Amino acid sequence: MLQQTTVATVKGYFSRFLERWPTIKDLAAASQDELMQVWQGLGYYSRARNLHKTAKIIAEQYHEIIPSSYQILIKLPGFGPYTAAAIASIAFKEPIIAIDTNVNRVLCRLFAISSAGAHQKNQVQKMANELTHIEHSGALSQALMDIGSNFCKSKNPRCLDCFLKSDCLAFAKNLQNSLPKKPEKLTRPKRYGHSFIMRHAEQICIEKRPEKGLLAGLYQFPSSEFVNEQTPAYYPVQAEWKHIGTVRHIFSHFELELTLWEAFVSNTNRGIWTNISQLGNYGLPTMFRKALTYIKA
Ligand code: SF4
Repeated sequence: MLQQTTVATVKGYFSRFLERWPTIKDLAAASQDELMQVWQGLGYYSRARNLHKTAKIIAEQYHEIIPSSYQILIKLPGFGPYTAAAIASIAFKEPIIAIDTNVNRVLCRLFAISSAGAHQKNQVQKMANELTHIEHSGALSQALMDIGSNFCKSKNPRCLDCFLKSDCLAFAKNLQNSLPKKPEKLTRPKRYGHSFIMRHAEQICIEKRPEKGLLAGLYQFPSSEFVNEQTPAYYPVQAEWKHIGTVRHIFSHFELELTLWEAFVSNTNRGIWTNISQLGNYGLPTMFRKALTYIKA
């Protein structure tokens, strides 16, 4: 849950999630719709889908016990090197260092690693391997994370208070404010789409997105494809369509401009009808919840 998301945002979701599914077995037995309903608004929905897949694998193949080795963990859906190393070293004492953003920053400064991108990653991994401690890698990983968040901060590192200063190459060379080097920023491409809000009395029409691809398996107001250029709206039914607003939403790899149209219709062959007050029961991604604010009661 904490990937790309702050602790403050995650807190409420985390406790609701654990209340609803306290064990791996419970989570494995949940439906994807239930999961998306609880996850809605947290974004990056592939995390929820991967968590669900992993719970099923652990329930079915590992007798509901989380595997203890990095080599097995890394193969589970949603697990990258950091998560696998954090669990293997902290929970199961495997000799491996978990490298998150804080640890990466501390190691780059401690060893004055001045490369960026993949080269930086390789050098940091090499230094981390050298630091690996046969018994205390988990404690070492957590200590490096704490040093990163308390002393070796991204801006204004507290070098004079830091107990590593006498061993720190960046401090010795006065490079602490310029390391680690960041990869060049790519600008996000823009995409455009139309969303059609069909209403009938207190009812509103929603549909499920395809099971694969962006926002897979979540619900939306019937919408066009998201394309690279602005295109005219092709309304799903004949009606008096009114332009009611535009929603902008940033995804990790593109920025979306969604034009909203509203019409009162008697029926449609797309999606399902639900009462507006019941929309919370469906996994509706943030951009469509933003669209809701344009709808007048
Ligand atoms: S001395 Fe400064 S740059 Fe070096 S590890 Fe400590 S806080 Fe980071």
